[in-house]
Amino acid sequence: MPSEFKCSVCDLRLSGGRYHYHGLQDGYSGRTLLACRACGGQHAIEHAMQDRGPKSYPLLKVTVQSASTEAKSIIARRWLRKERSMSYNEALEAVRNLPLVLHDRAHLHVVEAVQKELDPLGVQLTVEVVGEHSNTSYGPIQADRLLFTPERQFGEHQQAWTIGPNITQDVGEICCALCGSAENLTAEIEPEIPCPSCNQGRLSLVSEWIT
Ligand SMILES: [Zn+2]
Ligand SMILES: [Zn+2]
Repeated sequence: MPSEFKCSVCDLRLSGGRYHYHGLQDGYSGRTLLACRACGGQHAIEHAMQDRGPKSYPLLKVTVQSASTEAKSIIARRWLRKERSMSYNEALEAVRNLPLVLHDRAHLHVVEAVQKELDPLGVQLTVEVVGEHSNTSYGPIQADRLLFTPERQFGEHQQAWTIGPNITQDVGEICCALCGSAENLTAEIEPEIPCPSCNQGRLSLVSEWIT
């Protein structure tokens, strides 16, 4: 959960903490905000997704080919009435005339749930691929990378981020892009420390936010 701090004297803003992205199209799952203890420069590490999944997901058609009388009644009651909002008579009529299409374009996890429930009842199902749904997160695997704001951040107006180099080292070994010092980037900003910009004010918590 990121936290934002500000200096009571010079209005320097610093944020620290990790959050997750909602859209994954670029191959990054989130970022960790870091600030330099020496100069107050704002940085972030963008975390690359290690698995972007398949290019597409199959869409599947599930058909009941045969079922015992008992299984038919379960399909009618649990499936058709609940999932398709059919009346009991409509549902009974539907299972009387097999084959019956249970799903016409379902994702794999839905199909697996159907199989898990109906296989033990001896229901014969067929599953066919009828299409595909493209995976918007699919793409090349990226590397973690450093982001920073080219100048220290004062006031509420958020500066644009500059994309820095890919990183493989530990956070402690990354040098500040503004002052060049090592071992000073931190995601854990302590309130009440002297401001790294003016050295006069103290940092106080402005907000904490959840994504
Ligand atoms: Zn610095
Ligand atoms: Zn200050």
